[in-house]
Amino acid sequence: MNAKPRGRQFFQNPGPTNIPDRILRAMDRATLDFLSDEFMAIHRFCHAGVKRVLKTQQHLFMYASSGHGAWEASLVNLFQPGDTVLMLESGYFSESWEQMATNLGLKIERIAADWRMGVRVADVARRLEADKTHQIKAVLTVHNETATGLATPIAEIRRAIDGTKHPALLLVDTISSLGCYDFKMDAWGVDVCVGGSQKGLMLPTGMSFTGVSEKAFTLSKKPGLPRHYWNWEMMTRREPQSFVGTTPVHLFFALEESIKLIEEEGLDAIFARHRRLADATRAAVLHWGGASMGGASCTTKGVTGKVGTLELFCADPSRLSDSVTAVIVPDGHDANAMRTVALNRYNLSLGGGLGPLMGRVFRIGHMGDLNEPMLLGSLATVELAFKTSNIPYREGGVDAAIKSLAA
Ligand code: PLP
Repeated sequence: MNAKPRGRQFFQNPGPTNIPDRILRAMDRATLDFLSDEFMAIHRFCHAGVKRVLKTQQHLFMYASSGHGAWEASLVNLFQPGDTVLMLESGYFSESWEQMATNLGLKIERIAADWRMGVRVADVARRLEADKTHQIKAVLTVHNETATGLATPIAEIRRAIDGTKHPALLLVDTISSLGCYDFKMDAWGVDVCVGGSQKGLMLPTGMSFTGVSEKAFTLSKKPGLPRHYWNWEMMTRREPQSFVGTTPVHLFFALEESIKLIEEEGLDAIFARHRRLADATRAAVLHWGGASMGGASCTTKGVTGKVGTLELFCADPSRLSDSVTAVIVPDGHDANAMRTVALNRYNLSLGGGLGPLMGRVFRIGHMGDLNEPMLLGSLATVELAFKTSNIPYREGGVDAAIKSLAA
């Protein structure tokens, strides 16, 4: 049997992410009655804290589930069977949310996009402008497409909706951006945002939530799709508004510590740290690939066109994600074989390509509890794994990352 590599694993997945020791320790305690005064004080602190991270003073509903649960809650509380929603294509996760909406009985219209570029805001405005009878009930978009490392400009999408005076709601998935780079639910006019515990909040998987605007909450009172566990109306009868069943108390012990950690560092400092680490990662990737940006594009069918060197997947410099970087490997090379070497030989865990990007792409998560030495160690180990997997690269990517961090 192969021995597991020694030493601490360097964990560079784009979710779940590293859980800080302080959060692990906070969970190491006896359970509490979830209706006791002692626990309710923790629950109230967490409820208010998550709202501060979302930058909202409106409603928040929480669920014992992974992010899929909050996706489902956002759909079943707002729509009637057969309602039309507009999905802005970004990649694997917009596709998955779209699939869920289809399975729940909604009609989907998609604004198509090259996955390397993201959706054109003008296309969204044009489609809403043409919808004179307001058949489209909502625009759905993923703020940070975790599969590709591409960020969608939410404020611009809101301006496009408002510019057409269309009443569509704006639903935003913030699962892999929240706590990593800025998200302003109220200032950006987001009606529903979907969040999860296991990324920027640095928690175990298993808690998700939705921020809900007054407008969306009022609309949710109309009869629509069947709902029970996700039912916001039922939750409002509990204090604080959340959970139809048992509250996951240990996740709250963890969340309380996470909010303390976030507020001790400060959201702006956290965003600046994520930007620094993301810039350093991109500097390394651009160097490895000889700084070339290829002409290939990507759709649901995968990468189409020639890729001769390592490349950043996101090809629009204004949309680069600060929480994850996806890298395309040159034609004829297998990103998964390289990841396997990185994990089994060197104890470095990287994200893989999802859906049609399987084997073509690997992902470096740089979100949550992470600092310069952790990132530099991981980037150096990626270079080592390139060498031992015979993936062609230009040496010196780690130096480029150091220069970026020192600048
Ligand atoms: N949306 C995005 C952007 C994600 O990254 C993920 C998971 O990685 C999901 C939705 C689904 O969340 P979960 O896997 O927690 O159900």
